[in-house]
Formats: sequence, C-alpha cells, structure tokens
Amino acid sequence: MDVRAHVSVIFHLDKCIGCHTCSVACKNVWTDRPGAEYMWWNNVETKPGTGYPTRWEDQEKFNGGWKYDAEKKDIALRCQNKADTFLKLFYNPNQPNLQDYYEPFTYKYEDLFTAPAGDDQPTAVPVSLITGEPIEIKSGPNWDDDLSGSPIYAENDLNLDKLTEEERAQLFEIERLTMFYLPRICNHCANPTCVAACPSGAIYKRGEDGIVLINQEKCRGWRACVAACPYKKIYFNWKTGKSEKCILCFPRLETGQPPACFHSCVGRIRYLGVLLYDADKIPSAMKVSDRALVDSQRDAILDPHDPEVVAAALRNGISEEFLDSAQNSPAYKYVIEWKLALPLHIEYRTMPMLFYVPPLLPVMGKSANGTYEHSADKFFTSLEDARIPVKYLASLFSAGNEQVVEAVMRKLMAVRYYKRWQSVRDLAENDVHRILREAKTTPEEVEAIYQMTAIPTHYQRFVLPPLQREEAIESTCSPEACKGCSGFSLDPAFTPRA
Ligand code: SF4
Ligand code: SF4
Repeated sequence: MDVRAHVSVIFHLDKCIGCHTCSVACKNVWTDRPGAEYMWWNNVETKPGTGYPTRWEDQEKFNGGWKYDAEKKDIALRCQNKADTFLKLFYNPNQPNLQDYYEPFTYKYEDLFTAPAGDDQPTAVPVSLITGEPIEIKSGPNWDDDLSGSPIYAENDLNLDKLTEEERAQLFEIERLTMFYLPRICNHCANPTCVAACPSGAIYKRGEDGIVLINQEKCRGWRACVAACPYKKIYFNWKTGKSEKCILCFPRLETGQPPACFHSCVGRIRYLGVLLYDADKIPSAMKVSDRALVDSQRDAILDPHDPEVVAAALRNGISEEFLDSAQNSPAYKYVIEWKLALPLHIEYRTMPMLFYVPPLLPVMGKSANGTYEHSADKFFTSLEDARIPVKYLASLFSAGNEQVVEAVMRKLMAVRYYKRWQSVRDLAENDVHRILREAKTTPEEVEAIYQMTAIPTHYQRFVLPPLQREEAIESTCSPEACKGCSGFSLDPAFTPRA
C-alpha cells in the first residue's frame, strides 16, 4: 500500500444557482491579463448545453483522455502515440481553435461619456480584446446560459445522444424545459492525460497534495496538454506562448484560505478536503469496463480511520495534521461514506478528483397521465420518468451506469422525505422508514447528510490541510526574526509589516 494524500473537492449541484460569481472571482484573481482573456479556469455551464469550449465532450473531434483496449485491458492516450507525438508538435488537427472558444471582447465604454450631444442614445460598441477593432459578437463562454438559444444549443449536448425520443421530449417539453448548472474547474486528476502527453515534462502533480501544475519555465508551448485534457481545462496563453490552467489557488491554500471560487461561491455548493488513496492501485484502477469505473475509483480511496492506512501514511511522510484533515474531510464523507458524489465523465479514465453530487431538482416526476407529481411516494415509482432522465445523468457521472446514479438519487430523495416528515408530518412514519430502507440509509446518516448539505459551517465545508509552500522561503517571518527576504512579494522594496 502506497498511501498518498490528495486535496479533493465536491460540487453539490442542487445548490448551484448559476450566478457565475465563482468564474468572476477566478478571472479577477488569475486570468485578467493579456493572453489570458479567453481563459475561464472556472466556468459554469448549463446542462443540457454545449459548454465551453463548445462541445468539449466530443472526443471524436478533440481526441482527449485515455482510450481503453478491452482485449489487452490497457489504456493509451487518444491524442497521440509514440509514432506521431513528434509530428503533432507542429500540427495537431484535434486542437480546439478560436471558433471553439470565442474571440474575447469588451465594450468601448468611454463612448458613453465622450459621444457628442445628439438625438440618439450613445452605445458602447463591442471591440475585440485581441485586435482592439470593433467586432460582431458571435459567441461567448456561456453562450447557452439558462437554455438561451435552446433548442439550437441545448439539443447539441452530446449526452442527449443516448436518450430515446421520449426521454429527450421530457427535457424539452415547451414551458417545462429542465436545466441545471455544471460548474467546472480542472479536476486535478489522479491519472491525468495532460501530464502524460507533455513532451517537455513541464506538467506535474505536487507530491504532497496532488495539485496539477505547469512549470512555466519548462513549458515550451507545444500544446499537447490542451489536446490531451478531455475536459479542455488547459489554455494556451497567446501572449506568453505557454500553457496555463487552474492551480487550485495553491498560494491561498498555503496561507490557510480556500480557493477564490470556493470562498466566493454564493450557493455554498463547494467543499474541500483531503482524500487518501493507494497509489499502487492507480495504474490498474482505470483499466476496467465502463460499468466498473466508479467502483474501481472508490476502491482506490482509503479509509483515513483504518489503523493500517494511518500507519502506512505516516511511513510515507504524511503528517499527523494532514491525517487529521483527511479524517474530517467532507470529500471522504460525500464520496465514500455516503456515496453521493460522482466524478464527471469517468469514462475518460483520468480519474478526476473533483466529484459532483448530481442534481435532484426538479423533484417532480412525470406520472402516467402526463401530469407532474409532487407526492413523495410517486417519485420512486417514477424514477425513470424523472424530469432529468437518469440515463442523462448516468452519461455525465457514471459512464452510463444507471444503477450508480439511481442509488444516489434514492438517497438524496430519502433525505428530503425524512426532513419533510420531521417538520410537516404529512407522510406516514412507516412509509418514511421504508423509503430510507430502499435508499439503503438510516436516520443518523440522513441527519449527517442534511447537516453537511444544508447548514454546514465554513470550517466544515473547507477542511484545509497544513500545506507547504511551493517554493521554500524563509519561514521565520516575524518582526524579531525578519531578514528582509520579502516573503511572497516580488517587489524588492517590500517591507514586512511590524
Ligand atoms: S482536468 Fe486538469 S488534471 Fe485532468 S487532464 Fe485536464 S488539465 Fe489535466
Ligand atoms: S458561485 Fe457557486 S452558486 Fe454561483 S455559479 Fe459558481 S458554483 Fe454556482
């Protein structure tokens, strides 16, 4: 057993209100500079929808992730092999281009103030952030937000391909359109294709916490990582000629603060905590059939309370403080204890370490006579008729394995029924306990899920481990011990605060 620690995250989709505050917080902190205008390290997509970059899930076009050979029980990069790696440095037909993203723009706001007096209201025309010239806006990073443009955009969602006409109709019935939000950042995968594809060895996973970073000094701008990442979460900076990606705000983590998108999240959908995993299992974990992938990933994650795991972790140099945060981790609770959080598109086999609690909303199921049921009982009998088809969610969160998603939905629904019964008492007690049994849960577990979902404190959502700094600097910062090293600041004139 080779125990490693990983900072992992949970996004609870029922709580996301699609406000994009997370995206703006990230943009302001990290990508508000030349060459990075089109980068959205954090973006929020509407599902069904095409996402950003447009139709990023289309691996026939973009060729990202790992390809599984069932006969050999082996995986290989989809985007390149030993023979064509060199050639693809110079031309890679699977790279996303500007049309797949959008031409970044701003508005000429000064025209609003400087326009001469006239009969018409002055307008701020859009101008390209690349050329500075006026442009006609044709797309943007959340162009299909809230199903706008539907069905043109929503119907182009690749996950709909697996649905029957009837199931598609459930999603798109006029005036009953169903949608939810899917915030996305880099998954800081445990088996990342971006790292495997980089010819310069510039991308690496930090040993102590699993954060995937790009060494800007080593990056040669070949962009193999952009093609290889199936989530399209690496962006090429056209100004510096280097690739960039989400860094999980490691400078904030190292100073005891959650990442900017987590801290600013209005819906409080985001949780962060340590997962321990067995690195010995990583090479084989993703070499199983699609149906077995979720269980295989769960199997690689270790119980931080198990004395054997604790001993092996200490032998590997994981500190007791780190183990303490693993034992209190909300990520462990959601992923392993409650089995409510699932990875996005695990069939890409990069082993994402970002997990989603799938959305239950809207809770109403469709009954046989075509009306929408509010009643608790009827929901379970019509799970297959839920407004968001289970098959659609399975396409996103369990490589098509509907049983995995059904188990999650049943437990999420059981929490609602139990809490409703507690406060409203409009359900029979026997029925509520039957629902709990069918969902394989208990009143104690339901209370714990409710607490962590609905009323968690800041420190329950973010259980930050004590992290080392990326580059060792003098750690004796205090007025007495100050050696004038300037700490984090790059400014030589920096004076430490007394
Ligand atoms: S999601 Fe992040 S870690 Fe995973 S392959 Fe893409 S860039 Fe790499
Ligand atoms: S800030 Fe939170 S609630 Fe708002 S869109 Fe982002 S993830 Fe959703």
